[in-house]
Amino acid sequence: MGFKAIRGDIVHAPSKESLEIYPDSYIVADGKNIIGVFSEIPEAYGGIEIIDHEGCLVMPGFTDLHTHGPQYANLGLGLDMELLSWLEARTFPEEMRFGDMDYADRIYRQFVRDMVREGTLNAVVFGTVFLESTLLLMEILESSGIRAYAGKVNMDRNTAKGMTEDTSKSLADTEELIRRFEGNDRVRPILTPRFIPTCSDELLSGLGRLVQKFGIPVQSHLNETLSEIEWVKELYPDSRSYAGIYEGFGLFGQTPTIMAHCIYNSEEELRMMKSGNFFAAHCPDSNSNLSSGIMPLRRFLDLGIKVGIGSDISGGDSLSIRQCMVSAIKCSKLKHAESDESLLPVTMTEAFYLATRGGGEFFGKTGSFEKGFTLDCIVVDDRELHPSEMPRIDERLQKFIYCGSYRNIIARYVEGNHVDPEKVMETGLTGEGNARG
Ligand SMILES: [Zn+2]
Repeated sequence: MGFKAIRGDIVHAPSKESLEIYPDSYIVADGKNIIGVFSEIPEAYGGIEIIDHEGCLVMPGFTDLHTHGPQYANLGLGLDMELLSWLEARTFPEEMRFGDMDYADRIYRQFVRDMVREGTLNAVVFGTVFLESTLLLMEILESSGIRAYAGKVNMDRNTAKGMTEDTSKSLADTEELIRRFEGNDRVRPILTPRFIPTCSDELLSGLGRLVQKFGIPVQSHLNETLSEIEWVKELYPDSRSYAGIYEGFGLFGQTPTIMAHCIYNSEEELRMMKSGNFFAAHCPDSNSNLSSGIMPLRRFLDLGIKVGIGSDISGGDSLSIRQCMVSAIKCSKLKHAESDESLLPVTMTEAFYLATRGGGEFFGKTGSFEKGFTLDCIVVDDRELHPSEMPRIDERLQKFIYCGSYRNIIARYVEGNHVDPEKVMETGLTGEGNARG
């Protein structure tokens, strides 16, 4: 692939503390990887392809560090419940439908299209217990052009009847999924035990063996609600902590590990996450909707624990990481007020960093325009957001994050390649083409 440059008003956050702004400049890349940001095309790169978005904001795409594809049809529904009753009444019955491939195809395509529309270019996704439709979800993610990790959920107890897996089949199906997507460039497998209460000891130890055998990452849920934590304590009265149970089965930090929520982490659990390759997925919309609580985000940042933002639909009510950033800022302000002001609110720059480079770190060098990072960005035409004169670029970013919509995003690039969300709908089991051949 040849050299190219993207022109526009460029903004990124290479660290939590710094927003870097380059008015009318060029991101120059050797096709896939960024060489640098320049106010003029350097002479050495004269004559390269220029993708001209003059006057538009160019920023890194978003990373959604925690979301559930099969819950998309439930978006906005049933949110007057708390986690455990919501799982039973709304979520398990919906996920059960993903044994039907036509249904899965229909919902997963809309889910992926709408996520990409919102400017998410890296996503970590839960499927369901069903192998075939989870493979389909991964194929659809791959055809979209974005980068993703996806996993088949494991559950062999305390769930709906039709989704209670036979333990050895659950492990065999997981291994099958790993083999099918092992070595794939953009869409990779991740081990996905739902959470401790739905997985037997035998299943958890089997998954721990798969981590060792294949060296693949792990995602799950941790310390989301008080009643869930009580339940875990009843199941493992002798364990020293919730995180310690995952760790005992080899599912906590042996490979890169994402834990969603982490609202009620103990000091010991915070220390465990600080000392290894962990990412906390902060899901403020979901935590508000299900009355779960407010994660002490400032504590995590102060301790240097890696954090990204998760939409966690359909506990969350929007696939927009932009909107989740706003919720993260608002929740941190409420936490500030209720913590005797000891935990400072997170700033716009910090939230932007978490939504781009912070969560992006799970995928490697994405989410920033530093040298050597992949050329992943979104282009925002924000003129309609400013009824009078155009303000400063940092204010334009702020306005887009708070008041924009996916309609303001006019282009998306992953590794320098144009990504079109509408294309996801073009093939499919029920459409004209057939993605599965
Ligand atoms: Zn979740």
